[in-house]
Amino acid sequence: MLRHLMYKIKSTGPITVAEYMKEVLTNPAKGYYVYRDMLGEKGDFITSPEISQIFGELLGIWFISEWMATGKSTAFQLVELGPGRGTLVGDILRVFTQLGSVLKNCDISVHLVEVSQKLSEIQALTLTKEKVPLERNAGSPVYMKGVTKSGIPISWYRDLHDVPKGYSFYLAHEFFDVLPVHKFQKTPQGWREVFVDIDPQVSDKLRFVLAPSATPAEAFIQHDETRDHVEVCPDAGVIIEELSQRIALTGGAALVADYGHDGTKTDTFRGFCDHKLHDVLIAPGTADLTADVDFSYLRRMAQGKVASLGPIKQHTFLKNMGIDVRLKVLLDKSNEPSVRQQLLQGYDMLMNPKKMGERFNFFALLPHQRLQGGRYQRNARQSKPFASVVAGFSELAWQ
Ligand code: SAH
Repeated sequence: MLRHLMYKIKSTGPITVAEYMKEVLTNPAKGYYVYRDMLGEKGDFITSPEISQIFGELLGIWFISEWMATGKSTAFQLVELGPGRGTLVGDILRVFTQLGSVLKNCDISVHLVEVSQKLSEIQALTLTKEKVPLERNAGSPVYMKGVTKSGIPISWYRDLHDVPKGYSFYLAHEFFDVLPVHKFQKTPQGWREVFVDIDPQVSDKLRFVLAPSATPAEAFIQHDETRDHVEVCPDAGVIIEELSQRIALTGGAALVADYGHDGTKTDTFRGFCDHKLHDVLIAPGTADLTADVDFSYLRRMAQGKVASLGPIKQHTFLKNMGIDVRLKVLLDKSNEPSVRQQLLQGYDMLMNPKKMGERFNFFALLPHQRLQGGRYQRNARQSKPFASVVAGFSELAWQ
């Protein structure tokens, strides 16, 4: 990867941080995400669904709660962006099976947006219990297709644009933070974009440099910006716009969970290797690269099309979703000390404000009608107005 980047820079000049991130993470030949399983204790980082089954179960309840609140449509698509090992969607589908009596007669399909060949193979094994062959039809945007263990059709795509439009629930957990960011530094001459260049002192080393003049991505910076360093992620904006258009048109909801801030942080671009911080310019392709999600930007990109809720802290969201009740049920069911200890440790990791509890945020996109407390269009014939309270973002009333 380093050789490839050096060659690229030597032939066409320094590259933006966004291009650097995109090459390092998702280059089809050598990208960090493409051919390895980096998740879990043995990998480079661990995510909430890999820590505790409760995480996915509560998210499953969230989708069912939204499905019920908007009139129990006869069909929906569950769409996940960047599904990792497929653990999260697996836990969600287990809840759907357990609540089969509620969801009966509802036609569910699963759609995964994944660029990684390795991870899509692992997802197929997790969710279908078998190796799913690559689709032979080169013209089709679906590159793998199968049926989950509980009999639900499942398809894989490389891009959200390829997922069929239709009533859908979208999920993105630790997805937006891997999308490429442009970085800008305020200078006496105005905003200058940060680029990656070859260090003239050391031949096989990369370094950051500032562009000598303004660059087009500067258009993404707000006119009243007060910070002196900002990161902008145009790809995140494109995806939020697409999700918003789809939700406004056909209904459903999107749930985004990630670490991030509300337009306040500056330099958050960093690398992780073997659960430790890693210099982003050293040994590219061997470590995860990530930047905090700017939720204020996501909100701006959704504005006018759909309503947004959050960001709220993970511990508040999970508490509102009833994590304490679920933990108690699982603890009561198990006599095995190691299982009980694992459940308690997982709870602490997800909820402790010093661990993931405050670092991670939940953010949702919903059709405007959903929050207006009136009748939802889909159910105009039903007499009861739907609750405008959205689970997780306020306390769930257990009935
Ligand atoms: N959601 C999972 C995995 C997070 S890691 C979890 O929480 O455990 C990021 C995921 O996004 C990986 O599956 C990675 O392969 C995928 N990914 C990265 N860039 C992507 C892109 N541009 N389009 C689609 N998927 C992408």
